Amino acid sequence: MGLFRATAVIALCLAPTSYGFSSIKPQTVGVYRSSPSLLNVVSEPSTDAQSISSENVKNDNLIVGAGPAGLLSAIMLAKKFPDQKIKVFDRLDPPPSPTDENVWSDVAKFYLIGLGSRGQNALRQYGVWDEVEDVALQSPVMTQVLPRDKLVGVLHKHVLENYADQIELNYGYEVYPQDFAADENTAVRLTVAKCDSTERKNPSASAKTGGDEKSEICDVDETFDITANLVIAADGTARTVANAMEQSDVDKFKTMNAFQKLFAGQPFKVRRYIDDNRRVYKTVPMKIPDDWRPDLNYSARTKDGRINYDALPADRNGNYCGVLLVKEGDEFAASDTDPIKFRALLDDTLPQFSVLLDDETVAAIAKKPVSFLPSFRYAGPRLNQGDRALILGDCAHTVKPYFGLGANSALEDVVVLEEAIDETKSIPEAVHLFSKKRAKESESLVKISRELDRPGKLGFLTFILPLILDSIFSKILPKVFAPNTISMLQKEGITFTGVRRRKRFDRLGQVAIIGSGIYGFTACVKLIIRSIAKATGKNSGTITIGLFGGVVIASLLKKLAFFTKGNISPADVLTKTNDKESQK
Ligand SMILES: Cc1cc2nc3c(=O)[nH]c(=O)nc-3n(C[C@H](O)[C@H](O)[C@H](O)COP(=O)(O)OP(=O)(O)OC[C@H]3O[C@@H](n4cnc5c(N)ncnc54)[C@H](O)[C@@H]3O)c2cc1C
Repeated sequence: MGLFRATAVIALCLAPTSYGFSSIKPQTVGVYRSSPSLLNVVSEPSTDAQSISSENVKNDNLIVGAGPAGLLSAIMLAKKFPDQKIKVFDRLDPPPSPTDENVWSDVAKFYLIGLGSRGQNALRQYGVWDEVEDVALQSPVMTQVLPRDKLVGVLHKHVLENYADQIELNYGYEVYPQDFAADENTAVRLTVAKCDSTERKNPSASAKTGGDEKSEICDVDETFDITANLVIAADGTARTVANAMEQSDVDKFKTMNAFQKLFAGQPFKVRRYIDDNRRVYKTVPMKIPDDWRPDLNYSARTKDGRINYDALPADRNGNYCGVLLVKEGDEFAASDTDPIKFRALLDDTLPQFSVLLDDETVAAIAKKPVSFLPSFRYAGPRLNQGDRALILGDCAHTVKPYFGLGANSALEDVVVLEEAIDETKSIPEAVHLFSKKRAKESESLVKISRELDRPGKLGFLTFILPLILDSIFSKILPKVFAPNTISMLQKEGITFTGVRRRKRFDRLGQVAIIGSGIYGFTACVKLIIRSIAKATGKNSGTITIGLFGGVVIASLLKKLAFFTKGNISPADVLTKTNDKESQK
């Protein structure tokens, strides 16, 4: 069991909660007749609705989802186009104030996220970073940790204080696309449905589904249509807009003949991986003793991989939010488990943390329902539908939070969108350029992350073996071989596709050297035998390669011994990487 290990960016803590409701009245009102399934919302405009038709109210910019990506997109657009308006819709209530201590004092209530350089740079670019930094906690590995909802709270406050006349925030409304090329392809038409219940729920980690598309949706009884020149979908793992994009292509392809299909290009699709390594989690409020450092992340795991525990500081007073990850199907991966048995499990597997939890806390953890991590998903081969609608953030690429890349890459998407706007002369051009720049990146991010989360023996091949090889080769030949994939992902200035390419190159080089090493080593042994026999020396180059191969193989075996001691977790790798970084 590892203790006192600084994990970098794994940051999870969650509990659904509710806050005061505030909403903005819709401009048109329709009657909602059926359940709001995609693209078949039946709305019957009232007299009001007819008087404010969608043509009359064409908006400049509309953003679906007021999470980190949606709100930062709104700020980016407001800065870029000071004379334009931006409408943002979110199905939840407004976020809590980032400085309301009554809200944040319950440390196990919200999940924490770690913001690395990718996210920090994006927030800095739009003038929000200082405000985020004020309410976040700096970890020793340069990551800033704060609850996801607090980040959203900062962005929300920033909008209200700086762009109230440009950005209109609408909470308690769910949006469904209707037509991606409405009004002769000059607009996107959407239906906005008022939510009956706007209880603020964790958007990414639905208790039932792992935050996937089938998670709970608003009950609605009122809808209205709206059009916009540009639609940015940042609706997270609910993925309502991406699903509609996918359906739109399915419908389009149905009407095509074989010849047309041949030239139509690949349809827009959401790649939905089945989660074959699913873990569920429960959050644990924990206070560390006075003689433990209050700025470290603490983690531990069982050798058999049954339990993983990661605790991140929630404040500087020693209060931590721990996350207990358990394999799905485990007896404790459920609500209402037996508190006595649960205590026994903690005593057995996490004794150093178990002593910090009183019986009341243990009983509450045993009782509460589990939360799921999101599953791997990416959309492609493009991130747009038509000329005026694009997706970014979690709805374009969803990864498990082990490597702290979800929010970071979502915020980075906004920077790339701005670059695309800068490099083009019209919205359609910018939409297509953004898609071109970011679609491959989304795919690479998800594919790389998934390779690091494969179960069993496959996990050894895709996660542990590459780590071993990277740690040896980048140490012996640092100018030739890059560090392991996880630390590469955190680096600034390298794209996810670049990481993938670089690692493929490294792998080829490693295989070539190991192959040559084995060949040289064998040749060398033969030579030595022959030399001993004949008492003569031959080819010194072969001997050098042979010796090098011998060193590599010996080193490999040594590492293998370490990594195969037990079930290794992503946190271990981050720990090793970050330890090295902090020593520099
Ligand atoms: C437990 C956990 C830990 C994590 N830790 C980290 C970490 O350490 N580092 C990191 O970088 N990332 C982390 N993440 C991931 C991070 O939270 C997400 O990547 C990030 O929140 C994505 O931002 P987003 O704006 O794209 O989507 P979201 O944050 O999901 O926001 C989407 C918003 O859209 C709204 N919405 C959805 N559908 C509709 C609709 N049809 N109409 C209107 N509104 C809609 C939702 O209500 C929500 O507010 C973690 C995630 C989880 C679950």
